[in-house]
Amino acid sequence: MGLTKNASGRGAIDNGHIIDRESHELVIALAGNPNVGKSTLFNALTGMKQHTGNWPGKTVTNAQGRCTTEKQHYVLVDIPGTYSLMAHSAEEEVARNFVCFGHPDAVVVVCDATCLERNLNLVLQIIEVGVPVIVCVNLIDEAERKHITVNIEKLEACLGVPIVPTIARKKRTLEALFKRLDSTAVKATAPVTIYSAPIEQAIAALTPPLAQKVGEQLNTRWLALHLLARDDSLSATLRTVLGYDLTEDPTIAKTIAEQRKELACKGLQGEALRDNIVNTLVVQAQEICKEVVLYGKPNYADTDRRADRILTGRRFGYPVMLLLLMLVFWLTITGANIPSQLLADGLFWLQDRLSELFYYLGAPLWLHDVLVLGIYRTLAWVVSVMLPPMAIFFPLFTLLEDVGYLPRIAYNLDRPFARCNACGKQALTMCMGFGCNAAGVVGCRIIDSPRERLLAILTNNFVPCNGRFPTLLMLLTIFFVGTAEGSSVAAAALLTILILLSVLVTFFITWLLSKTLLRGEASSFTLELPPYRRPQIGQVIVHSMLDRTLFVLGRAAAVAAPAGLLLWCMANITVGDTSLLMTCAQFLDPFARLMSLDGVILMAFILGFPANEIVIPIILMAYLATGSLTDVTDPMQLREIFVANGWTPLTAICTVLFSLFHWPCSTTLLTIHKETGSVKWTAFAAVLPTVIGMLLCMLLTAVVHWLS
Ligand code: GDP
Repeated sequence: MGLTKNASGRGAIDNGHIIDRESHELVIALAGNPNVGKSTLFNALTGMKQHTGNWPGKTVTNAQGRCTTEKQHYVLVDIPGTYSLMAHSAEEEVARNFVCFGHPDAVVVVCDATCLERNLNLVLQIIEVGVPVIVCVNLIDEAERKHITVNIEKLEACLGVPIVPTIARKKRTLEALFKRLDSTAVKATAPVTIYSAPIEQAIAALTPPLAQKVGEQLNTRWLALHLLARDDSLSATLRTVLGYDLTEDPTIAKTIAEQRKELACKGLQGEALRDNIVNTLVVQAQEICKEVVLYGKPNYADTDRRADRILTGRRFGYPVMLLLLMLVFWLTITGANIPSQLLADGLFWLQDRLSELFYYLGAPLWLHDVLVLGIYRTLAWVVSVMLPPMAIFFPLFTLLEDVGYLPRIAYNLDRPFARCNACGKQALTMCMGFGCNAAGVVGCRIIDSPRERLLAILTNNFVPCNGRFPTLLMLLTIFFVGTAEGSSVAAAALLTILILLSVLVTFFITWLLSKTLLRGEASSFTLELPPYRRPQIGQVIVHSMLDRTLFVLGRAAAVAAPAGLLLWCMANITVGDTSLLMTCAQFLDPFARLMSLDGVILMAFILGFPANEIVIPIILMAYLATGSLTDVTDPMQLREIFVANGWTPLTAICTVLFSLFHWPCSTTLLTIHKETGSVKWTAFAAVLPTVIGMLLCMLLTAVVHWLS
């Protein structure tokens, strides 16, 4: 018999939410320091696709998935990475609460074999909580590469819990973990950490009254230690979990006071007591590692340090960052030309066949027009123009993430963010925003100070997400660069300048807000630079194709199709002499012209509120619904459609600027509301970029008119 269901039989708590479990399922929490491979392990075990990336702090909420072995059904919960159970940040609290109060049936603590000592600190603390523990020593392949050997048997003997070595990227190495879960009677073990005599005495004195009050509900030794050490965030959670305040019990309160006095006499009060506790754990982890870890080469991190001297150095840090960004864009643009052309040829060939089919079936003309000329043709353009660049850009971006370059960007940008009185970790959330602004906003939980977190949330939308990148790329290419030889360098340079602009606006607005509405000092933080890791090229390509590229395209298609129908109806329902579509566009037109846009473009941005991906499709559909060009087989000819509808290079620049700076999409806004809990800040997050975008466009229009 393997694990037994937790005694309480209750559903496990996920920071206040009940874990969705059947009565026969066992709940396993995956805990560990950040960046040790928890999400990779979770994905491998559950077949799910939690975001993985080589930087600390990317998992900020609990994710759950299921897996079944021959003997058991498991619900796995991937909790945010944490260094300690003495929580300092929101995500650490989520992790601590699940391990301590979520009643998991077991906790699998994932460790990094290349820096076991630091990881053991958390292992020792989790063992103290009194939950059944299995330790997974992951990244064994990396350790081997760095000539580090971990003696698994000895470690098992030292900790008294099952230990499994794994390489999370290789599924077959995970079987051993299931075997241990299935076959070993995993049960809570006695803690292995012994504190200094005065602390042990205080624990011994406080344990009996606590046991009387909470019974079997919580581990009383662990509880005593943390009550003595005044862990404030824990006390608050305890009140919620228990439904009463433990320290209001007269006997407990009296014992705590007495024992704190005793400890104070020995110089162990407040900070000193907490330091003593942490120190004991650190020393113990060191001693265990002395026994079990063997270093073949002392300077295994030398290559990493040499690379960091260049990538994060004063002289080369910024130039390398810009060059890399440009290189990614250049590869994207050059690589996309030919596939775009091929796709367009193929898809428009199919359009002709579809038309023939409709004709053959005798379908009414309006049905052919709405389905083939409206929806299909627009989608064909979108796919042929958007798919190839996305299929190149996203894997390249993910590769940089997988190698471990993102935290280096954050390190480089730390100083400018500090100058704006913000937190350097905002650079990481900004990078996440390039993927998806909603994910970037959730990622802001890695920032501890509420003021700095709000700054990061409010400015996240200033960097373009997945959904907006293709629009920017396409407009820049067709209006300013063309597809002629050698033009891709210019396009890459333009896009890099645009991204720089979005980063500069982020800095400026962050600075402005921190001087006005959100005043305060920048907090200090330690940013860990993870080791460089060899990326999994195959997986990166597959995942970024499936998760990002097809997701974005799918969303564009799913929203564009009904939008196409709506537009077709709007174009065909007339109010007086003009169609509803033109009436709306004409209504918006005078205002849009102030920004060098037109009514259709502004309407497309408004209708694109559910998803930024559909702005260009809507513009195209609107122009085509009013009848202009017909068949186009070259994506470059899209330019002709725009020009035929009055676009100038200024219109293109302003559309690009407005795409960079306008209200966040509905998902991002909902997320901002969820994260800030405030309608006021959500509205502010929508108004702020819109005002900036409008001002920039109007300013540019005025300057161009003045110059001409
Ligand atoms: P988490 O922060 O703990 O969830 O870590 P992730 O699962 O995101 O993994 C961090 C990085 O380590 C990713 O780039 C993974 O691909 C990589 N990784 C995870 N496990 C292993 C492993 O066993 N070996 C190697 N070489 N890389 C791994």
